[in-house]
Amino acid sequence: MDVPERARAMVATDAYTMESRDIPIPRIGPDDGLLRVEVTAICGTDWEIWGRQSRGAGLGPLILGHENVGRVVAVGDRAAQRWGVAVGDRIAVEEFLPCGTCRLCRGGNYRICEATDSRGGKPFLRYGATPLAVAPALYGGQADYLYLHPRSIVYPVGEDIGPELAALYVPVGNGVRWVVQEGGLQVGETAVVIGPGQHGLGCVVAARVAGAGRVIVVGTARDGDRLEVAKALGADEVVVAADGTSPVESVLDATSGRGADVVVDLAPGATGTVEDALAMAGKRARVLLAASKHGRAVAGFSNDLVVRKELVVRGVRGHDHRSVEPAIDIIRSHRFPLERLCTHRFPLEQAPEAMHVAARGGERGAIHVSVVP
Ligand SMILES: [Zn+2]
Ligand SMILES: [Zn+2]
Repeated sequence: MDVPERARAMVATDAYTMESRDIPIPRIGPDDGLLRVEVTAICGTDWEIWGRQSRGAGLGPLILGHENVGRVVAVGDRAAQRWGVAVGDRIAVEEFLPCGTCRLCRGGNYRICEATDSRGGKPFLRYGATPLAVAPALYGGQADYLYLHPRSIVYPVGEDIGPELAALYVPVGNGVRWVVQEGGLQVGETAVVIGPGQHGLGCVVAARVAGAGRVIVVGTARDGDRLEVAKALGADEVVVAADGTSPVESVLDATSGRGADVVVDLAPGATGTVEDALAMAGKRARVLLAASKHGRAVAGFSNDLVVRKELVVRGVRGHDHRSVEPAIDIIRSHRFPLERLCTHRFPLEQAPEAMHVAARGGERGAIHVSVVP
């Protein structure tokens, strides 16, 4: 394939501003590669970085986009061998660019390696968060080409699914890791998912694949469309948390008072959902905390509930090869109507509009929003 001289990128110059720029494409050596981006999907992290909140502060201009799928247009000999890919292959690219040698990497926890953590306070590399000043600048999917750094973690996705579906490797991969691999969901157990965004819906799929006896999804009055999708994916029950209805009571009713076995909290910013999760968890349940509360403490966190019920409370963040590989298989199986998650797509120049639609409090019914460069 021809490698052009320049890429067209939407550069996030400052908080909530973007401009189109041409960026030179580097010469590809034996250990790296170049991707023609087909789809870059948006999640809440992008909004935080774009707004220069918490993890975006101090990063300077950069190209957003960390959930990337595209075709390999150039790849060095050694990289091709290491990654098992050839020019023309469609691949999914993880956002992490871990060092590969530290204690965390060696222990299989490369997704939280300091060398790929934008919040570690040290120099790092990570797709969708690396400053433009770091050569060769093409570290985000909101551009027609993405630089494949030697530390990239990539997965061939085949030709039987399109790039938009393939980009669901992130929410489905997160669901597999959080509910099954970290939550230890067993056949016949009850799973509760609080927050029916893309990651919550990924948790529903993972719970069904793992043989959950019952899957309950908790949303708000704004989540009508998302809760419909949750049902289509196999949720047995959806609960709309509103004044006067307690999701805790609904879950206890549905489980004959025993409570859930696995509860995942995915509600960004809300602290009451953590209290609910602890209250609706049954004895020896696993409670997975997957959402940022933006620095806020959970005032009603009950130590005694954790002790009395012997709960496991665990923070979870991101995915890894152990969950992404099965996630790609699940997507390729067409067992679930996952296309219903793909609600919006925008051309590259409309990346700012795409960001606003996907943002928290953005457009109702938006689930998985893609930019198609
Ligand atoms: Zn993301
Ligand atoms: Zn490392």
